[in-house]
Amino acid sequence: MNEHDFISGFAKEHVMHASGLVALMMPQTFGAGIAVKALDGRYMLVNQVMQNYFSKTHDQFTSLNDADLFPSEVRGQLRQSDAQILAGAPTSSDQLDCLVAGGPLQGLWFKFPLHGADGRLQFIGAAMLDPARMGNTDKMQKLLELLQDTNQESQKTLAELSKLAGTDKLTGAWNRRRFEEALVNEMDRLKRYDHPLSTLMLDIDLFKKVNDVHGHSAGDQVLVKLASVLLANLRPSDTLTRWGGEEFVVLCPNTMLATAATLAERLRESIASTTFADVGQVTISIGVAECMMGEAWEDWFKRADAALYRAKDGGRNQVQIAPEAPERGGAEKNMAANLVRLSWHAAYECGHPVIDEQHRGLFVDANNLLGAVLSARPEAEVAALVNTLVTDVVRHFKEEEGIIRAAGYPNATEHAATHSALIDKAVLLVKHFHEGSLSIGELFQFLARDVVARHMLGADREFFAYLQPKTRA
Ligand code: GH3
Ligand code: MG
Ligand code: MG
Repeated sequence: MNEHDFISGFAKEHVMHASGLVALMMPQTFGAGIAVKALDGRYMLVNQVMQNYFSKTHDQFTSLNDADLFPSEVRGQLRQSDAQILAGAPTSSDQLDCLVAGGPLQGLWFKFPLHGADGRLQFIGAAMLDPARMGNTDKMQKLLELLQDTNQESQKTLAELSKLAGTDKLTGAWNRRRFEEALVNEMDRLKRYDHPLSTLMLDIDLFKKVNDVHGHSAGDQVLVKLASVLLANLRPSDTLTRWGGEEFVVLCPNTMLATAATLAERLRESIASTTFADVGQVTISIGVAECMMGEAWEDWFKRADAALYRAKDGGRNQVQIAPEAPERGGAEKNMAANLVRLSWHAAYECGHPVIDEQHRGLFVDANNLLGAVLSARPEAEVAALVNTLVTDVVRHFKEEEGIIRAAGYPNATEHAATHSALIDKAVLLVKHFHEGSLSIGELFQFLARDVVARHMLGADREFFAYLQPKTRA
């Protein structure tokens, strides 16, 4: 095998976009010494110039490392520049002035990474530029440029490969590996800043039949189109991952359950109204869940999956929302997560018939509103239900303030101030909602979670003791 074949073979086998490297390796090209080293430092491939530098044949050269070739005073320096490449540096260089087997060696010793088809660092490239031996600086300049190109190509390939490595080939959606990387960051933000985080788990309905009737490749085309319709309907911060065969996951950072449910409904609707070439209509079922503080992602996804299962069970082509895990957290936490239906518990009663009645009524208002949002009722209808909820809250706050004052609750004034702050904010958010700058999901989240659930089960608890029916001693 001649040197050219050897180099070409090597390049084909190990290095992507290696044309630059092959040119570099040709002995006549620039009069520079070029070598390829394994990651453990052994020389695998050296060109003629390099062989001359060290007075060794190719066979004698291979499997030697720097310790065998260089005097001890430069070994540490060379080891360090190898280490830089191993650590991910795009290039490293040394000024060498030493004596080797072939005579004095003086000049620049360059290192650059060579990546394999899997995008991982596979070899260390090395180039020795000795101005005395290379003759003119023009040649050297050209070589440096070529080296740079090779290096950039290698880096670009790496970027492309890493994108490919994170993407599903058929649909272009993220694959699970990429997803898991992103998830770690999002869970971290949830923990640190209490940012809400929701997920949609979606699965094509009766997809097996699509394959059976129209063939597998028609099925593939459905997957491709479906992913593109979904992506077109997502916000820039949401991501789409192909979870398995015909199952996808949407991750929604900074999104509360009600907003995620609205998004899910929009996705369901847009798929149902898409016509798929050769196949016609296709529907999807979706399970939605918001991650709870301190919840492991596996548990969170189990809840989303269970909701998806309910959507299938309930007749497909629908959205179902995960309830809270019943064993977790205190009452307030459960309430907060259980936004779909605020369900009433005996423990929420303070014992005063008017207050309990009104609290219960607010639950009903919130549930009616959510029902209308999730089933995409006309805007006027949703707006009317928002209005009912806010009006009932205002009336209730007022009556409650009278009752707790009469009962001698010492913090009645502060409590009333909390009420008016909540109302002020509600009025502002409703205004934004009507102006179109706030989604119904976000408005609902505030009204149901902050005003109804959190306030009732937080601040209100403090006056409960003053309202218990007096028992006789
Ligand atoms: P369900 O509504 O209960 O989800 O019914 P289904 O038929 O969609 O569910 P099932 O899990 O029984 O079948 C999923 C089918 O999806 C079976 C499999 O052949 C098909 N599938 C999975 N991955 C691919 C793919 O990459 N391309 C194609 N064409 N089909 C796929
Ligand atoms: Mg399935
Ligand atoms: Mg399916």
